[in-house]
Amino acid sequence: MPTATANGRPADPPRRLGTPEELRRWSERCRAAGLRVGLVPTMGALHGGHLSLLRRARADCDRVVVSIFVNPRQFGPGEDIDRYPRRLDEDLDMLAAERVDAAFAPTVEAMFGDLNATTVRVDSALTTTLEGVYRPGHFDGVATVVAKLLIACRPHRAYFGQKDAQQCAVVRRLARDLDTGVEIAICPVVRDHDGLALSSRNAYLDADQRRRAVAIPAGLSAAAAAFAGRERRSAILCELVRRPMDDAGLTVDYVAAVDEKSFAAVDVVAPGCQILVAGRMGSTRLIDVIRLGIDPAPLGAAPSRISQVPGVIAIQGRD
Ligand code: AMP
Repeated sequence: MPTATANGRPADPPRRLGTPEELRRWSERCRAAGLRVGLVPTMGALHGGHLSLLRRARADCDRVVVSIFVNPRQFGPGEDIDRYPRRLDEDLDMLAAERVDAAFAPTVEAMFGDLNATTVRVDSALTTTLEGVYRPGHFDGVATVVAKLLIACRPHRAYFGQKDAQQCAVVRRLARDLDTGVEIAICPVVRDHDGLALSSRNAYLDADQRRRAVAIPAGLSAAAAAFAGRERRSAILCELVRRPMDDAGLTVDYVAAVDEKSFAAVDVVAPGCQILVAGRMGSTRLIDVIRLGIDPAPLGAAPSRISQVPGVIAIQGRD
């Protein structure tokens, strides 16, 4: 059924683009007409976190394309690619209701074919710590697909979510190192009513696991409160995050306080340092982040209103 917009009229579906070549031609036409193009890369199963990015893109740009592609190269052996939620029809309805101009939803074949031998690697400590340890090769897959999207689309600005904080750092680095000229805009974490960061993977959680997963934002909130009370020792802050997760039966992969730019671990935190966390609830892996002294405590904050257009945390590449 066609989705209705706020004024009750059926929403126009986004233009469907299936190959990098179609994306390139669409984008070239936009640019030739003097229009600013915004790109929002996603793996689909869209939720309020994705909507916040595309609403920001709509506010900033004349034309918005959302890519929906479950990228096999960023999943390791034994990870959840087979059960990753795929809901293309619902996603397209959401994009129509949001008045997104184009949806790029290629097949794996269209994106990589048989002969694609190229890997883009950000060769720095950014990719060897934290997620890089637990998901070997993950950032090569991310960097490769993002580079392909930026090259095909050549957007003026591409939008990413701070929830995947390390991914944001990797993407910013590759956009700069490859002289893409694309502005990389980072948008804040959107959370559910109880503080849990929205994620397509939350759909894997049963009701009991979903309730216990709130230990993650609870721990981050405890660290935020301690930071506000002048605690600066990262070991203490990380322990405050870890304890409720242990109590809730989450298997902690890491809790780390890192420098916002280098992602190097710090012993003493300063405002802007990030606490990054990854844990497993059963077979579901969840990640989250807080920027100390900047982000509101996830449990204390009013629920994120996804109807609002978020500000951006950072824009790299704007002169
Ligand atoms: P994904 O579909 O999970 O690959 O995510 C696509 C984009 O949406 C990435 O830039 C994510 O960081 C971003 N994103 C996912 N969840 C959230 C969230 N809860 N808040 C803000 N951005 C998000």
